[in-house]
Amino acid sequence: MSKHNTIPALSENHETPEHHRIEPEQLRDRHQLGHCYCTNCSAVCFHTHWYIDPEHVKRLQQDKDSKAVLCPGCTRVKEQLYEGEIVLTNSKCMDLMDEIGALMKHTEGACWYRNPTARIAVITKDEKSLCIKTTTRALAEKIGKQLHKAYKGHLEIKRVPEDRFVRVYWTD
Ligand SMILES: [Zn+2]
Repeated sequence: MSKHNTIPALSENHETPEHHRIEPEQLRDRHQLGHCYCTNCSAVCFHTHWYIDPEHVKRLQQDKDSKAVLCPGCTRVKEQLYEGEIVLTNSKCMDLMDEIGALMKHTEGACWYRNPTARIAVITKDEKSLCIKTTTRALAEKIGKQLHKAYKGHLEIKRVPEDRFVRVYWTD
C-alpha cells in the first residue's frame, strides 16, 4: 500500500498509526455505493470512515452518483462550534513558530483520524502570544501536551465540564 493514499487530513507528512490506515484501492471500485466527499477540505467518506485521497476525490467530483457534503470537521468550523482554546505565551513560542505550527498540524492530523470532527478552527496571533481554537476538547489537550513534551515549560489544563470546554495554557 502506498503511503500517498493514506495521508491524514491537513498534514501531508504525518505517519499514521497502522491500525488507522485503510486501503483506498479496495474501496475505489464501489465508490458509487456510499462514497461522499467534503466540498471544503476534499476528505472522502465511506461508511462513516473519513480519509484523504486526492486522486479518489478527483474522480468522485466527476461522478454524478457521488454525494458532495460538508464533513463533520468543516461543519464544526463553519458553525463555530469550538470546544477548546490553547493560549501559548511561552517565550519560546515566537522563535519556534514554524516548528510549533508543524507540531500542531501533525497532532490535528492524528486526532482527525480518530475523530473527524477534530479540527483547528482559528489561530490568532499578536507579538507575544498565540491563541488557537479547536473543535474538540481532546485536540486542544493533545496539542498542549505535545508542546509540553517537546519544549517543556509549564502546562495548565482547565476543564469546564458544564460548558463542554477546555482552556489550555502553555507558559514558561
Ligand atoms: Zn471537510
